[in-house]
Amino acid sequence: MSTSLLSVKDLRVSFKGDSGWSPVVHDISFNIEAGKTVAIVGESGSGKSVTSLALMRLLQAGASRIEGEIRFDGKVLNQLPEAGMRALRGNEIAMIFQEPMTSLNPSLTIGFQLAEVLMTHRGMTRAQAEAEAVRLMERVRIPSAASRVKDYPHRLSGGMRQRVMIAMALACKPKLLIADEPTTALDVTIQAQILDLIRELQREEGMSVLFITHDMGVVAEIADETIVMLHGRIVEQGLTEEVFGKPEHPYTRALLSAVP
Ligand code: ADP
Ligand code: MG
Repeated sequence: MSTSLLSVKDLRVSFKGDSGWSPVVHDISFNIEAGKTVAIVGESGSGKSVTSLALMRLLQAGASRIEGEIRFDGKVLNQLPEAGMRALRGNEIAMIFQEPMTSLNPSLTIGFQLAEVLMTHRGMTRAQAEAEAVRLMERVRIPSAASRVKDYPHRLSGGMRQRVMIAMALACKPKLLIADEPTTALDVTIQAQILDLIRELQREEGMSVLFITHDMGVVAEIADETIVMLHGRIVEQGLTEEVFGKPEHPYTRALLSAVP
């Protein structure tokens, strides 16, 4: 009996082109156990984002095709009606992206946007949600949280905006957090702080994390297990210490040799 929270089996994702359907993710399989962090690493274009968007069923319906099985917490996601999927997104599964600005509304304060999430997903009253928004901002270590909730997104640095996105994700108490290159756009020192934060929250909240990155250094910091993707295929997967200690695939070795 497996304890996997997420179980992906023979996932194939294809897009419609001029000459019919062409796969960009080829029959990949992996599991995420409850409470674990799994990294998908690979160069740009290797199919990492397409994989994560397919899991969330966020690819354009008519132009993409998903085959295989995506099982999450007892449900087969790729057979779930859209309404069921909508209920999962931002509830049991949260997602953060490389550029937090694209997910924040520039014309609403951060506190308002956090409160909206809390009222929608956690059934709080506005007063409860506003208080909880401050608590969540403190949780992700945003200084002077009580006054910062009144700020508009452009007033915050990239690192602070990413903290807000993490707070938004936490607001839903997700079982799984999918993070697609969440530190790629940030300075190295800020990157390290965000990684520390995700690791700490992962431990304390007990959620599972699927962490997508092109950077092996980041993988070493964060992942229990590592999946190496190349050209839409998994070329290596296993415990991070094993992948780093005894890489089997030449591509993994090449990635590792680039780590300082
Ligand atoms: P990564 O996140 O690893 O950098 P992606 O998953 O974004 O790579 O892309 C994998 C491949 O799929 C790329 O060749 C990309 O051009 C292609 N691709 C991504 N989205 C689409 C789409 N909507 N339609 C057609 N091809 C796409
Ligand atoms: Mg990507």
